Amino acid sequence: MLYYTEFCLSPCEVPEEKSICIYISGCTNRCKNCHYPALQLHNYGESLGNFFADIIELYYKQASCVCFLGEGRGFPEDQAELISYAEYAHAKGLKTCLYCGRDTGIESWMYVFDYIKLGSYREELGSLDSKTTNQRLYRKNDENKYEDITNRFWIE
Ligand code: SF4
Repeated sequence: MLYYTEFCLSPCEVPEEKSICIYISGCTNRCKNCHYPALQLHNYGESLGNFFADIIELYYKQASCVCFLGEGRGFPEDQAELISYAEYAHAKGLKTCLYCGRDTGIESWMYVFDYIKLGSYREELGSLDSKTTNQRLYRKNDENKYEDITNRFWIE
């Protein structure tokens, strides 16, 4: 079961989208100087299952995307839960984004998301807005293939 600490409406996490951002706890990564240590706590916050529909109802007319910041502990049941939320959001006409903090490639269960951010936070390389970052943001194109759009975060 996934738990979240907070949610907000933001234009920053996904380029050219206004996202309902939901911060999910239970992160098992241990990035040095983590930007949000509370997300490492297990079962911290409120059950997302109890409130997800209400959060979407509150904001979906103002938003174009739902961005899940975190994937819980990464268990198959956590992934299944995220997939069900993504499908719910799609049915409401919203795109979806997963912020995964692991150093991994795009995994098959992630294919439901329109955007996928991958990679741990490494202070020496910087986050998405740094040209030296190890993190990547991918967007699914019309051919259902993911394109790297990380450079959208970089100011020329
Ligand atoms: S992935 Fe994000 S929340 Fe998790 S430890 Fe790294 S910086 Fe913190």
